[in-house]
Amino acid sequence: MISIQNEPQPTDLGDVRVANRAVVLRHVRLHAPCSRADIAARTGLNKATVSSLVAELIDQRLVRETGLTENRVGRPATMLVLDGEPYAALGLQLGADELVAVAIDLGGNRLLTWRRAFAADTVSPAETLRALTALARRAIGRVTAQGRTMLGLTVGVPGLVDPAGAVPLADALGWRDVPVAADLRAALREPAFTVGVETVANLAALAEQRHGAYAGTADLVHLAGGITVGAGIIAAGRLLRGGRGFAGGIGHLPVDPAGPPCDCGGRGCLTTLVGLPAVVRRLLPDAEADGPVTDYLPELTRIVALARQDDPTVCNGLAETGRHLGRGVAVLADLLNPEAVVLGDHFATLAPWLLPAARSELAARAHAPGAGGVRLDASTLDTAAALGGATAALAAVEAGRLPTR
Ligand SMILES: [Zn+2]
Repeated sequence: MISIQNEPQPTDLGDVRVANRAVVLRHVRLHAPCSRADIAARTGLNKATVSSLVAELIDQRLVRETGLTENRVGRPATMLVLDGEPYAALGLQLGADELVAVAIDLGGNRLLTWRRAFAADTVSPAETLRALTALARRAIGRVTAQGRTMLGLTVGVPGLVDPAGAVPLADALGWRDVPVAADLRAALREPAFTVGVETVANLAALAEQRHGAYAGTADLVHLAGGITVGAGIIAAGRLLRGGRGFAGGIGHLPVDPAGPPCDCGGRGCLTTLVGLPAVVRRLLPDAEADGPVTDYLPELTRIVALARQDDPTVCNGLAETGRHLGRGVAVLADLLNPEAVVLGDHFATLAPWLLPAARSELAARAHAPGAGGVRLDASTLDTAAALGGATAALAAVEAGRLPTR
C-alpha cells in the first residue's frame, strides 16, 4: 500500500500569499515599469490578487507608482517600479589584504563601496571580527542616516562556511571553528535584520548571476581568486551548497603531482599553483625580500606592468598559470557542464595573459566536445563578493517576506 504521509500537504494561505508576493516583486524587478494588468497577464495571478498584493507592497514601500501611463487602447494604467528609497542591504567581504563594504538599495543600485586595507591573515580572528564590525557599523550608520531601514547583511569569507554561519576551516586565514555570524550578531547587539555568512566564491557567483555580464545564466561558476581559490556554483538557477555548505571548495584540487607542496599535505594543489600568493612568489622572486607580502595590490600592479612590457619571465609565468587554471576549469566543466565560468579577483586582473593559455588547456583537457559549450571569461564586476553579499541580504524580502520597519 502506498503511504500518503510523505506527499506534499496543502500549503496554508499565508504561504501562498508570501509566494505570490515574491512573484509580483520579481516581475516588477525584471519588467518595471509595468502595470497591475501586465503583472496579472504575465504571472497568471488574477487581477484582484495582484491589486491586493500591490497595495500591500506600496504600503510597505517596496513598490511605488511612477504616475506614468501606458499609451495604449483602453484605460490608461498606472505604472509600477521597485521603491529603492526606504531600504538598504549590506555586503562585507574579507579579501586577501582588504575589507570591502558594499551597500545597495532594493533595486540593486549601489549606495556605497568602501575598501579598507586589512591583512586578516596576520591578526587573530577576534581582531578581524572587530574590524568587520567597525566597518559594518559605519556603513549601517551611513545608510540609516539617509532614512533607510537595513534589510540584512551578509559577510563573505574565504573559507568553508556551515549553515549556521560559522567557519569550521579557512586555511588562508589560519581559522578553525570561528562562529562568524553569531559573533557579528552579538557585536552588533542582535540587530533586527538578518546577519548571514557565505563563502566569497558563493557571493561572487550570486553577484555574477544578478549583475554580471552573464546575468540570468542558469548554470554558471564564478572562480574566486585572492589568497585562496574557490568556486561559487549556480546550478539550474540556484546556488549549489551541498550537504553541509562546503560545495565548490576546489582550492586543493590536485592539478600537478610534481607541483609545489601545499599546507594541506598534498602537492600541486590548485591554490599552490594559481592562488595570488603563489603567483606573486613565482613571478616576483624579490617580493618577499623585505618579509612576507601583506599588501598584494602593489605586487599585482608590478606584474601587470611587466606583462605589458612583454617581460619574458612574467609572460611565461602567466601562461603557465593560465594552463594550470585551465586544468582546474576543465574539471569544473566536466563535473558541472556550466554555460560560463567567470574568473574573479586577481584572475580577472591578469585575464589578458591568463585566458589564452587557460582556454586552450580547457579545450584540450575537458572530455565533452567543445568543453561542453562552456565560455571562460573574466568578471567585469568590481568587488563582486561584497556586491553579492548585499544581494544575498535581499533574499528574504525577494522571497516575499515583509520587512520589519
Ligand atoms: Zn592543498
